[in-house]
Amino acid sequence: MLRFFNGRILRFENGPHITEDEVHISGDTIVYVGPATAEDKNRFDREIDLHGNLLMPGFKNAHTHTPMTFLRSLADDLPLDRWLREAIWPNEAKLDDEAVYLFTKLGILEYLSSGITASFDMYSHSEAYVAANIDSGFRTVLCSGMNDFDADPTDIERDYLHYNQCSDRISYQLGIHAEYTTGIERLKYMVSLAEKYKAPCWTHLSETKAEVEGCIQRYGMTPPLFLDSIGFFNYGGGGFHCCHMTKDDIDMFADKHLWAVTNPASNLKLASGIAPVARMMKRGVRFAIGTDGASSNNALDMFREMFLTTGLQNVLEDNPNACPAAEVLEMACVNGARCMGLENCDDLAVGKKADLIVIDLNRPNMRPLNSIPNNLVFSGSKENVKITMVNGRVLYEDGRFHIDDDPAELYHKAETFMKERIRR
Ligand SMILES: [Zn+2]
Repeated sequence: MLRFFNGRILRFENGPHITEDEVHISGDTIVYVGPATAEDKNRFDREIDLHGNLLMPGFKNAHTHTPMTFLRSLADDLPLDRWLREAIWPNEAKLDDEAVYLFTKLGILEYLSSGITASFDMYSHSEAYVAANIDSGFRTVLCSGMNDFDADPTDIERDYLHYNQCSDRISYQLGIHAEYTTGIERLKYMVSLAEKYKAPCWTHLSETKAEVEGCIQRYGMTPPLFLDSIGFFNYGGGGFHCCHMTKDDIDMFADKHLWAVTNPASNLKLASGIAPVARMMKRGVRFAIGTDGASSNNALDMFREMFLTTGLQNVLEDNPNACPAAEVLEMACVNGARCMGLENCDDLAVGKKADLIVIDLNRPNMRPLNSIPNNLVFSGSKENVKITMVNGRVLYEDGRFHIDDDPAELYHKAETFMKERIRR
């Protein structure tokens, strides 16, 4: 049993609010949130004095490609189509299971230091990817990225069944890479799987103008409306990016209660566009936030994504309150969990999983405490992450990683791989 005391607690039920309660954790679960009790202290294996700092639900990275850490800062000046064809796909072909395992672990270290407690990840080499997550104690939801280049799309059904029962920290959702990389036959196969398992479906969606124009040429409809017309969204799910959404696209998303995941840094870097987050939220669309892969971002840092999410909307809407900090914080912590099917990791409450972070408020960028939610979104940074706990285990504390690997060894292996296999 573990006890957090003498601090502040941020909870989201009925809107973000802060109390001075303490929190007890048994195994992987939060078992008590409330005032300090006079009970026997001996029942705790560890007591963490928060010294006035903030305990809150962890950030959920709702769209990423974790193993792409190997491509960080390797091709930073290309538009999306050339970037994929010239820099990403040829280098990804050189990855083997061992490399995916290594670069997934590198990504997990970055998540932990950024207060991220779960990822929604689309990548290949699932077995190595999952092993890296299991071995690190991290939580992830895989999303299939079906496209025309996969050898055998029926693997997805096998993976869907396998990874949804292999560990309580691993789950799997259905998805395609994108409409423009997936022909109609395979799309129909994906819809049949969604139908069979009554499962949500995900995709990169309306990320660039060119993608939308191509889909209109092929099918006479925008990507969201075309995919909806073939039944892709019959059981929910949603889209990553959603930069170029028409009014009809937005109406369909709202009416079908689909999720949109915004990736502002990636969209800025690849000059893809700015998602109309505030406009879509006004129509009732729910948003979560993702970093996308380290190849297009290049940081796996939710503080930067949160700031960009609000800042870009303010510019887009010509309104400094278009997307308030409290709502952005809710997207990053609560909505992220719910969109990827982790409803038991969405908040700090009794019975929920202990996926929590401690934010250091005793740093200059957090003072004065005029508004803690605003400080988190507008002036917060990774330097404020003191503790990251996943499933009741402290995996990161005061700059040290509590996983089996020595980070220096992982960095060394990463450099060796790049030198021998990619940059030669
Ligand atoms: Zn992506």
